Amino acid sequence: MAILDKVLIANRGEIALRILRACRELGIKTVAAHSEADRDLMHVKLADESVCIGPAPSVDSYLYIPAIISAAEVTDAMAIHPGYGFLSENADFAERVESSGFIFIGPRAETIRMMGDKIAAIEAMKKAGVPCVPGSDGPLGDDPEENLRIARQIGYPVIVKAAGGGGGRGMRVVHTEAALLNAITLTRAEAKAAFGNDTLYMEKFLERPRHIEFQVLADTHGNAVHLGERDCSMQRRHQKVIEEAPAPGLTDEQRNRLGERVAEACRQIGYRGAGTFEFLYEDGEFYFIEMNTRVQVEHPVTEMVTGVDIVAEQLRIAAGEPLSIRQEDVVLRGHAIECRINAEDPVSFMPSPGPIDYFHAPGGPGVRMDTHIYQGYRVPPYYDSMIGKLITHGNTRRSALARMCGALSEIVIEGIKTNIPLHRELIMDAAFRQGGTDIHYLEKKLAAKGG
Ligand code: ADP
Repeated sequence: MAILDKVLIANRGEIALRILRACRELGIKTVAAHSEADRDLMHVKLADESVCIGPAPSVDSYLYIPAIISAAEVTDAMAIHPGYGFLSENADFAERVESSGFIFIGPRAETIRMMGDKIAAIEAMKKAGVPCVPGSDGPLGDDPEENLRIARQIGYPVIVKAAGGGGGRGMRVVHTEAALLNAITLTRAEAKAAFGNDTLYMEKFLERPRHIEFQVLADTHGNAVHLGERDCSMQRRHQKVIEEAPAPGLTDEQRNRLGERVAEACRQIGYRGAGTFEFLYEDGEFYFIEMNTRVQVEHPVTEMVTGVDIVAEQLRIAAGEPLSIRQEDVVLRGHAIECRINAEDPVSFMPSPGPIDYFHAPGGPGVRMDTHIYQGYRVPPYYDSMIGKLITHGNTRRSALARMCGALSEIVIEGIKTNIPLHRELIMDAAFRQGGTDIHYLEKKLAAKGG
């Protein structure tokens, strides 16, 4: 690619390998920036160059901005891909990357900053005609009477949320008027301590929603497309466990209507790169909750049903090229499901780092395994426990499920504990197989099993 001749990968694990593969396909050289604990990662071995950016703890390596910038400088990289997690949604990082003369593979810093402030994000989305959760329309003040009035108007239950919150933290559900003021005080204190920002807002609390999100791509020439949606309702502690595309039961009309809305929102805010609009979906209505300004873990299910390589598009956009697809080229084919494979106890969910004594990857038609692990690799204890993603595709949801069953029975990972036994169980679960379970379904199922 003409202007992107070398990309520094500022991440680790499966996504670092995924980025490396996309770069290779496009003839872009790669630099793996890794911590001392990650010398044996697969993408470090495969990269054209590698640079150690610091000790094992993320704060000293994958989150340490000066080390990453220096690594790009010494290797003469042109652009930095942040992956997901770590610095991917850090506006200061994006700014530093660009002010140091590199291309940040993601949106402009000010877009990241706006979307990181949930009140600003909701405001922008409302302006763009994206449906949002009924709420306080701005920050909550200190006047108790006014806050009681807002909650009464929204109707209980309500949820009090921190504008700067993330990772499912900084929010509190309130069921009755008697509990409201105390909940606001507590959430404010928590938000201040956790995010250094005590700005709060209030929304209607939806009791049985599904999590449905739309994937978008936008270039620097004013083009934006949506790639349909993913259903990520199978969650534990706000962490997605299984994702799929398309969302069971959603009609083409619903998809096209909201998809066009979010693509238009991208054009309006001058969005750049890949992004995801997250919605809660209840009783046939969508409610925007937040936008993720990066590639997501679950992007492969969208790739499988659209045939679009999302990471390659990120690279093209960063190189200043127009999107390789128009909206009318986006055709959904079949169904895809992803199981996140974690190095953890399948019952207690305790992390299980250690050596991979044996690994056998599943295969066959419609089976994709995105993982950095290999036999002899040692899963370090310092990072997220996700060690791979198993994705299956079929002409129908039934076929994707059948292929997932087969793949889960073929896969062998020995030496550490994994959540594969849990996935084998979930994929056979009657309600899940039927499709359309809400975001509380998995937790309830696990609680029933444990108790
Ligand atoms: P975070 O940035 O911490 O992920 P989100 O705003 O995306 O915060 O909310 C995280 C999760 O909290 C959602 O996926 C959903 O499960 C729950 N949640 C947030 N807002 C609401 C709401 N208004 N009603 C019901 N559940 C909600």
